[in-house]
Amino acid sequence: MSSQPTGHDGPGLVGHAPDTVAVIGAGIVGLSTAWFLQEAGVQVTVYERRHAGAGASWGNAGWLTPGLAAPLPEPAVLRYGLRAVLSARSPVYVPLRADRHLLRFLTSFAAHSTARRWRRGMAAYVPLNERSLEAFDVLTAGGVAATTTQAANFLACYARERDRRGLLAELEQIRAAGQDVRFHPVPGLRARVIEPVLTDRVEAAVQIYGQRYLDPPRFVDALATAVRTRGGQVVEGCDVLDLRTEPGGVSVVCRSGHQDRHDAVVVATGAALGELTARFGVRRPVQAGRGYSFSVPAEQLPGGPLYFPAQRVACTPLDGRLRVAGMMEFRRPGDPLDPRRIAAIVDAVRPFLHGVHLDDRRDEWVGSRPCTPDGLPLAGATAAPRVFVAGGHGMWGVALGPVTGQLMAQTILKGEAPPQLAPFDPLR
Ligand SMILES: Cc1cc2nc3c(=O)[nH]c(=O)nc-3n(C[C@H](O)[C@H](O)[C@H](O)COP(=O)(O)OP(=O)(O)OC[C@H]3O[C@@H](n4cnc5c(N)ncnc54)[C@H](O)[C@@H]3O)c2cc1C
Repeated sequence: MSSQPTGHDGPGLVGHAPDTVAVIGAGIVGLSTAWFLQEAGVQVTVYERRHAGAGASWGNAGWLTPGLAAPLPEPAVLRYGLRAVLSARSPVYVPLRADRHLLRFLTSFAAHSTARRWRRGMAAYVPLNERSLEAFDVLTAGGVAATTTQAANFLACYARERDRRGLLAELEQIRAAGQDVRFHPVPGLRARVIEPVLTDRVEAAVQIYGQRYLDPPRFVDALATAVRTRGGQVVEGCDVLDLRTEPGGVSVVCRSGHQDRHDAVVVATGAALGELTARFGVRRPVQAGRGYSFSVPAEQLPGGPLYFPAQRVACTPLDGRLRVAGMMEFRRPGDPLDPRRIAAIVDAVRPFLHGVHLDDRRDEWVGSRPCTPDGLPLAGATAAPRVFVAGGHGMWGVALGPVTGQLMAQTILKGEAPPQLAPFDPLR
């Protein structure tokens, strides 16, 4: 790795391409960033509070769906959210007594839920979405020993035909923003032929083409192994409490008292992003949008993901079982798993699935989507030289993790962000 001056100076820029970089957080975003930095010969150390993949990158639905990745705040989501929080069985949960942080997030989320802002956000997603699958191919071709699977079928399923109008309209808008997405409405009967696991309660569906999925724990594990095999360190059990910027470097301070100095640092701590970055000028709050998942056996697994948009539930065939995931619960990341949320997911999908043993659950899990109020990730330099941020992808951090890592590596090495990251400036 050379130490050639980049000719840049200013916030977030280091003056020289760094030789050593610390990444805080071993989720898909942090590990991907570390891996792509290694491609350029950088010596990386990943610090992880618990273990690699301990955060949202473990129990998610594993969808790699550039055709669906879009900003969360939009008028329909806001209307849905306002109605849903009033129902006890709702797939969205907001505590009645929201704290100051949550109130700030919700107020800003509501302000961003306009059609105009959604269109602008969607235009920012398109260049990332377009490169997202290719970034996975770079990882796997480069030795990450896990696969991504082309979805033979990808069906969004509805109890009533009129219910699918919202998704069809959204897909049209995603396409109008320039995203290549192919889809087709199919009647319930046809959906049940494609996926016999569906019951006759499914009266309408939308088939979406060209999407993929992966096994999240397996992929993150393989990524961490690859980072280590290439000479990087993944230091587990190291809770980073502080980052001290000094002339020519940044010291990473762990709870244990351990301290180490690096040329630059990337904070990729998922829903905890604000804890370490607020004092470096990152003002957007990152709120935990907690989701739940579990896996169940099925007599016949579907040939690809099943989506129940009205119930906000995602099902993915993984490792011989069906992973069922859903819920958006605005609570603190460390709060315990609430079994009522699991029960609500089970009740929501039971009518639509045949031969799926929803009471034989394994791996019940809760994890935190890192949500920003404008629905856009935070990726790039901060106000402090040598401190960078990567995260806040909300519902889409798995699909967009590798491409973010690839573009972050370019940002850190060249001292300026590529145009694709401009809308995600953490100082916006
Ligand atoms: C139910 C559910 C389903 C989902 N389905 C999908 C999907 O199908 N497709 C998709 O693209 N996305 C999906 N997502 C979203 C996706 O899981 C997240 O956006 C993504 O995993 C975020 O990755 P990350 O690396 O930013 O954060 P994380 O995976 O949360 O990683 C952050 C890491 O930082 C560590 N950490 C935090 N603070 C510190 C500290 N101070 N010191 C050291 N380490 C620290 C944490 O322990 C954690 O391991 C889903 C999420 C949920 C909850």
